[in-house]
Amino acid sequence: MNKYLARANQLVPELVENRRHFHRHPEVRNELFETVKYVKAQLEDMGYQVQEICQCGLVVLAGGKKPGKCILIRGDMDALPMPEDTGLEFSSENPGAMHACGHDLHMAMLLGAAKLLKEHEDEIEGTVKICFQPNEETFGGAKAMIEAGVLENPHVDAAFAIHVGSMADVGTLDYGKGLTMGSADGFSIHVKGKGCHGAAPNSGISPINIGVHIYLTLQELLAREVNPAEQCTLTVGSMLFGDGATNVIPSEGVLNGTMRGFNAELINHLRQRVEEISVGTARVFGGDAEVEWLFSSPAMYCDPEFTDEVVRYAADVVGQDRMIPKKSRATGSEDFAYFGEKVPSQIFWLGAGVDDKTKRISNHNPKVLFSEDALPYGAAVYTQCAIEWLKEHK
Ligand SMILES: [Zn+2]
Ligand SMILES: [Zn+2]
Repeated sequence: MNKYLARANQLVPELVENRRHFHRHPEVRNELFETVKYVKAQLEDMGYQVQEICQCGLVVLAGGKKPGKCILIRGDMDALPMPEDTGLEFSSENPGAMHACGHDLHMAMLLGAAKLLKEHEDEIEGTVKICFQPNEETFGGAKAMIEAGVLENPHVDAAFAIHVGSMADVGTLDYGKGLTMGSADGFSIHVKGKGCHGAAPNSGISPINIGVHIYLTLQELLAREVNPAEQCTLTVGSMLFGDGATNVIPSEGVLNGTMRGFNAELINHLRQRVEEISVGTARVFGGDAEVEWLFSSPAMYCDPEFTDEVVRYAADVVGQDRMIPKKSRATGSEDFAYFGEKVPSQIFWLGAGVDDKTKRISNHNPKVLFSEDALPYGAAVYTQCAIEWLKEHK
């Protein structure tokens, strides 16, 4: 058995305890003050000097005793703003927040890796930068860490992350090469009309009528203006107009949505078209509209050569038969893509599905369950990939 996996198996009680602590106390966005306090205390106990590089973003360095390159390993820490409905005895005690994306497991695995790396610090030929990232779910954390200089001092040569998946068997590692996950651009279209009595529509301008026409035109935008060979989605997730009255035409409303794709040039063109369609359609009916861009994350690029290397190292931990090349790319997004834009990167999807397949539900569901049996694999894969990559790239 791989030596890091053997040791990680001994650490299971600690990995599980940490994971359950995080699960019980979820925090969202970059307001992870209690989470960060806990992670920091654990890292300090291991002997690390912890740096808070941006709001609720932590970095520690392992190794550095022998010359060499620097590899960054990243785990994200934020939960989702949603109530939990798993019935677990360690369910969220923070109403309206839940670790439904498995970032509680990511923290536990990365803390496990930090411990393993500390125990093997003399063997590290270079430096491992261990990075606890806030605010992945709204695509702000990776960007904030990079802007705060996480890729320098020492300069980072490659970056690696793991995300757990609730649908795959424990210990499988799913990976892609090239563009593997879509970009994400979030928007709010604020529609302005003129409110009036529902019995006299001629005296006002209905923002609902405008909103519906914008909605339909946006769906046609993809059907008529995008090459069918492109993979691209535009989803309006909510339309908020009025307060439930039957006889009132409201004065304004909003459509919220996201665009996903793999072609940055096309996405830029579509951003411009979303604005033209929204404003133009509103004006046709005598109203107005304004598009607010809420977030933007690039498509995830996994460097093929770096991928081949980390796949080889990780196979030693989980077994070659559990390394699964992706059959297709996903339109879901990950802000680790910001790292992928800067340095050779890879994000593995670690299977953490519960044994009973009928109970498997995807990430972001209030009933999602993750198997804690995945924890030692995650800790060992982080460690193995970091140490082995540095050994081969002196
Ligand atoms: Zn998520
Ligand atoms: Zn996630």
